[in-house]
Amino acid sequence: MNNPILPGSTLGMLGGGQLGKMFVTAAQTMGYKVIVLEPDAKSPAGVIAEQHICAAYDDKDALQLLADQCDAITTEFENIPSETLAFLEKLTIVHPSSTALASTQNRNVEKAFISSLGIATAPYAKITNKDDIATVEQKITFPAILKVATFGYDGKGQFPCESITDVYSAFDSLGEKECVLEQKIRLAKEVSVVLARSQSGDVTPFPVAENVHINGILHSTSVPTSISNTLSELAVQQAHKIAAGLDYVGTMAVEFFISEEGEVIANEIAPRPHNSGHYTLDACHTSQFEQQVRMLCDLSAGNTSLISPVVMINLLGDVWGKTVPNWQEVLSNPNIKLHLYGKHEARKGRKMGHYNVLAESVSQAMTEAEQTFSKLKAD
Ligand code: ATP
Ligand code: MG
Repeated sequence: MNNPILPGSTLGMLGGGQLGKMFVTAAQTMGYKVIVLEPDAKSPAGVIAEQHICAAYDDKDALQLLADQCDAITTEFENIPSETLAFLEKLTIVHPSSTALASTQNRNVEKAFISSLGIATAPYAKITNKDDIATVEQKITFPAILKVATFGYDGKGQFPCESITDVYSAFDSLGEKECVLEQKIRLAKEVSVVLARSQSGDVTPFPVAENVHINGILHSTSVPTSISNTLSELAVQQAHKIAAGLDYVGTMAVEFFISEEGEVIANEIAPRPHNSGHYTLDACHTSQFEQQVRMLCDLSAGNTSLISPVVMINLLGDVWGKTVPNWQEVLSNPNIKLHLYGKHEARKGRKMGHYNVLAESVSQAMTEAEQTFSKLKAD
């Protein structure tokens, strides 16, 4: 270990969302101070940090102010302009690097990078103009999904396509922005690997997580998974290879599809802690956010072993009706740990919180998790 940054130091966080908030909480628990740079005046992380610099991500004066006060800086948001990180890198310690972030910001660049490592992705075609559409059937077989290449999240900017005609109209409705057309994989399962990689290249994975998405948004995560050890080990190996290929430092995640044919297919990389790693907050010795602090500060990784089977359920704005959800219902179950992010407005599809259910088995945790979820929805 070289020169670890120790408690009492000040860490910087670019982005003020829930991932930033949970980083701030972990860092403060360990005795660090945190300064958040985020343009929204009332963000979940900004309101609990020691200081909130309310500014745009490309505001050089604000970035200078952040760098002047921070011993190291990280991010919670993959769409921070990589020039912002490049600017900060000249002034202080920054992880992940601007180059690692840049490789994950465009779906075409990301898929080309994953393929270059010999790891399978869904067959895809890059689409930058209408002429590219005419030849897509040389690369993919329908049905497919057209996804905008940059700034997509939680299934936003995605259109299912049954034929080339659908691709033309979807490309049109996306304003002819650069896209990727992905072949639709017949999914048996979806899993993710959240891991931490240190400055000296040591990789510490968390237990593999099994994910269920509804309408393109994560609904639940279960650990341990129901996939075989062989598939699980393959996913971890591939995630390790991706982290090393990016020379990544910090906590990151790789989402995988397990096809009906039993292939492991990398879907996407998250250069930050991940929603499917929220189970670690209550069910692992070390959370993905504590691990992010440890990696940023060049400390050794914490123990990632699982304390208990767990199911995490996301709480989207959809469960807010005319009144707030029935929290008493959630909190009356002693096995449930509730996490609310403190967002001011509950919009449909917006991630507002989550809860973890710890039980003797995943199936028991899932039963309790879904029972509670069905009673939660307000009118
Ligand atoms: P997030 O950032 O929240 O993960 P996203 O907008 O980046 O979301 P994707 O991960 O690309 O979205 O897709 C969301 C979900 O849609 C996937 O987890 C999967 O359930 C489904 N999906 C996406 N692409 C494919 C595909 N090629 N084949 C089958 N299902 C897919
Ligand atoms: Mg995804």
